[in-house]
Amino acid sequence: MDKNAPALSLPAEPREFGFLVGGQWIAAGDREVFERSSPAHDVPVSKVVKCTPADLDMAVAAAREAFEDGRWSRIPAVERANVLLRVAQIIRRRADEIAYWETLENGKPIAQARSEVDGTAGMFEYAAGAARALHGDAFNNLGDGMFGLVTREPIGVVGLITPWNFPFLILCERVPYILAAGCTIVAKPSEVTSATTLLLGEVLQEAGVPDGVFNVVTGSGSTIGQAMTEHLDIDMVSFTGSTAVGRSCVQAAAGNFKKLGLELGGKNPQIVFADADLEDAADGVAFGIGFNTGQCCVSGSRLIVERSVAQEFEQLVASKFEKIKVGDPLDPATQVGAITTPAQNKTIMDYITKGREQGARVVCGGEQLDFGRGQYIAPTVFGDVTGDMAIARDEIFGPVLSVMPFDTEEEAIAIANDTVYGLAASVWTKNIDKALNVTRRVRAGRFWVNTTLSGGPELPIGGFKQSGWGREAGVYGVEEYTQIKSVHIEIGKRDPWVS
Ligand code: NDP
Repeated sequence: MDKNAPALSLPAEPREFGFLVGGQWIAAGDREVFERSSPAHDVPVSKVVKCTPADLDMAVAAAREAFEDGRWSRIPAVERANVLLRVAQIIRRRADEIAYWETLENGKPIAQARSEVDGTAGMFEYAAGAARALHGDAFNNLGDGMFGLVTREPIGVVGLITPWNFPFLILCERVPYILAAGCTIVAKPSEVTSATTLLLGEVLQEAGVPDGVFNVVTGSGSTIGQAMTEHLDIDMVSFTGSTAVGRSCVQAAAGNFKKLGLELGGKNPQIVFADADLEDAADGVAFGIGFNTGQCCVSGSRLIVERSVAQEFEQLVASKFEKIKVGDPLDPATQVGAITTPAQNKTIMDYITKGREQGARVVCGGEQLDFGRGQYIAPTVFGDVTGDMAIARDEIFGPVLSVMPFDTEEEAIAIANDTVYGLAASVWTKNIDKALNVTRRVRAGRFWVNTTLSGGPELPIGGFKQSGWGREAGVYGVEEYTQIKSVHIEIGKRDPWVS
């Protein structure tokens, strides 16, 4: 995207969206409507329907019918793959529009939104291949009279609850894989960022995904999300969000023992050894917490740095923050945009206050930025952080980095593991032994060595410990939405039970 292009303009009036059930777009009618304002500009940009539990029932029934009659689940994988490939083409064609709505509702920089949307096209292409590659197993070693098969079947109707931090990216880290497996979907985006999930509905329809295979209900998490996790006719829920709500999903799922995929919070370590390329590492660490204003489950929010370079390194990170462009996300040159919700803005500022009160030292940032409208927070680095402080332990979900020095490799590993979370971690060193040892010993589902926040369709996503259950993306992400059946086949005549 051309960084010198003029900033995009705001819509003249909020765009009204319906919701999608069984291939039909349904307008609000007499239902309540939620109006979303751009968090960067404070003007209304979209209106979505506050669906009722009855609407959810209707969507689940449509997804159930579409699953059971086999219009998607039982067609040859090559046909599903061809549709997924068409989805990728349409996403590329509509990328500007999707990125625009992502930025309007989320507040993330338009250049970043554009690159995320581009990346999702590749996820559909990868999943198309994975659909065709999905296979089971055969046992030809059970003796002359027996042959064994292990087959994978789609799990059924999947409820998909996605958060507001990466509304389109997180959606597309799941939808192509779920569709590749042959399942049908009822999606519930976060109410504040529903637009791009609804746009994906249009894209999937145009690509030829049959009616009822992908349905979208909009509304709040406490009503529609909760009803979805409790729903007795949903076979699996994939939930991405806070650990607290993840825990309530576990309880709600008990009604029919639905399978759960949970991608939850993180307090992810960035371990920097003195022998690292410090310039490169500082850039990576700044990116790891500044990207998406730190509103990423995998943000590197704890800097665990070797004491001999700690002071120099925190200054290097602060100097990177001084150079980045924070501001209007509709400006293609912006690198850090707005905080997505007022509630999140308050959460972050409260943690900054707590950090100060508990004795941490502000190296840079620590304040709200005033651009005349919208809510912005300066990327913040705290030094002198100890392991008992709230800013060392809690997921802040904002651009706040806590620096904790270490003296030995063992100590670095111990600090990194001193958390209930286990989502992601990075290590920066030019010593291969240290890199491998740390990668093996720190408990996290995703690891980066001399880089951070990289990703792609091939490598799986998910957490250890209280960061969740299951894996998304890669072949693992397709298998997650299947269940395994074993088949024993008698060859010839059985040994009789009654002689
Ligand atoms: P939530 O966990 O409340 O929201 C995530 C998703 O769950 C949204 O779609 C939300 O819908 C939905 N939801 C809310 N309540 C329920 C429920 N009872 N049952 C089912 N679904 C529900 O996160 P918040 O938006 O409140 O953010 C709070 C904190 O959560 C953040 O500060 C951050 O620490 C963490 N978080 C982590 C994310 C991650 O990627 N791991 C993503 C988002 C937040 P709706 O928004 O419409 O209410």
